[in-house]
Amino acid sequence: MNTHAFDLTPAPGMRSSQTRGLSVVVPCLDEEAVLETTLERLVTVCEATAPGRYEIILVDDGSTDRTWSVIEAATRRNAAIVGVRLSRNHGHQLALLAGLSEVRGELVLVIDADLQDPPEILPDMIDLMAVEGADVVYGKRRTRTGETFFKRLTADWFYRLLDKSTDFEIPLDAGDFRLMTRQISDLLVSMPERDRFTRGMVAWLGFRQVPFLYDREPRHAGETKYTLRKMLRLASDAFLGFSLLPLRFGLFLAAFTSIFSIGMGIFVVGSALMTNTAPGWASAMLFSSIVASAQFAVLGVIGEYVGRIYLQDKKRPLFLVSRLSDRRNAPAREPSRFAASA
Ligand code: UDP
Ligand code: MG
Repeated sequence: MNTHAFDLTPAPGMRSSQTRGLSVVVPCLDEEAVLETTLERLVTVCEATAPGRYEIILVDDGSTDRTWSVIEAATRRNAAIVGVRLSRNHGHQLALLAGLSEVRGELVLVIDADLQDPPEILPDMIDLMAVEGADVVYGKRRTRTGETFFKRLTADWFYRLLDKSTDFEIPLDAGDFRLMTRQISDLLVSMPERDRFTRGMVAWLGFRQVPFLYDREPRHAGETKYTLRKMLRLASDAFLGFSLLPLRFGLFLAAFTSIFSIGMGIFVVGSALMTNTAPGWASAMLFSSIVASAQFAVLGVIGEYVGRIYLQDKKRPLFLVSRLSDRRNAPAREPSRFAASA
C-alpha cells in the first residue's frame, strides 16, 4: 500500500497528545477549486501541531475535474500527503471509509475538503480530547452560514426524528467533522455494514464522546457535492440502518385496524339486528375488517423477523469494552476476547 517517510507511532517516553502521530482524512469529489487552499491550511496546522508526525490522506472519490492531478502534485511536494483514488464515485461515506482504512496515526481527524470546517481548531480539539480523556471529539455546529433554509430545516427535523427512533443518542447539529482515536477509526473500518452512515455508527460505538462547538463557514469555493439525491440516500441509510421503525409499521396498522374492526363489528351487528340492512352486508363487512387486521398483524410479525435478520446481517459487534481494569494473576488460557478493544 502507500509508503511514506514518517513514523507515526509515539516515540518512547513521549506522552503529550501533541506528539502522537496524526492522520487527517479528506474525501474529495471535484474539489479542484478549493483543494490547494485546503491543503495549504491543513499542512500549516499539522506542521504546528504534529511536526513530522502527521499524514494527510486525500481520497479522490471518482472526480472528473483536475482533483487527482492536484493530489498527485501535492504528494510529490510533501511525502506526508497520501493520495487514494477510488475507481469511480462511491459516495462520501465510502470515500471516508477508504481513507480510514489507510490511516497510520494514533489520532484521526476527518474533515471535508471545502473548508466549511476550519482546520485551525484542530489543536483545541486535541487539547479537549486530552483534558476530557475522550475517544471522540466531534464538531458541533453553533452556527451554519451559507446553508439554505431548506437544508437546515430538513436536517433539523430529520435528526430529531432519527434521534427519537434509536435507543442510543445521535448528536444533533454534528456532521462527519471529528477527531477520534485510532481505536475508534479501526472499529469503524471493521464494521462490515454496506450502507454506511458514519456519524450514526460512531454514536452507536459509544466510548467517551464530547462535542466541540464551532461556527460552520460557507463552502470556500465550488459547489456542494451533496445533491438532493445523495442527501436522500444518506437519510435513508441513516434511518433504515439505525431504526426498525419503518418495519414496525405493519404492527401499528394491525393495532389500528383491530380497534377499528371491533368498533365496526359492534356497529354492523347492531345495525343488522335493529334495522333492515341488505342480506349479507353484515357478514361481508365483518369478514373484510377481520381479514384486514389479520393481514396487517401477519405483516407486522414478518416485519419483526425481517428486522432481526437485517440487524444480524449487519454483523455489528454485540458489545464493546472501552476500558479494562483487570488485576488477575493467572495467565489467560486463550487470548483475551477483550484484547482488541481494551
Ligand atoms: N464528497 C465525496 N463524494 C461524494 C460527495 C461528496 O467525496 O459523492 C466529499 C466532498 O468533496 C466534500 C465532502 O464530501 O469534501 C462533503 O461534501 P459537500 O461539502 O459538497 O457537502 P455539504 O457540505 O454541502 O453537505
Ligand atoms: Mg460542504
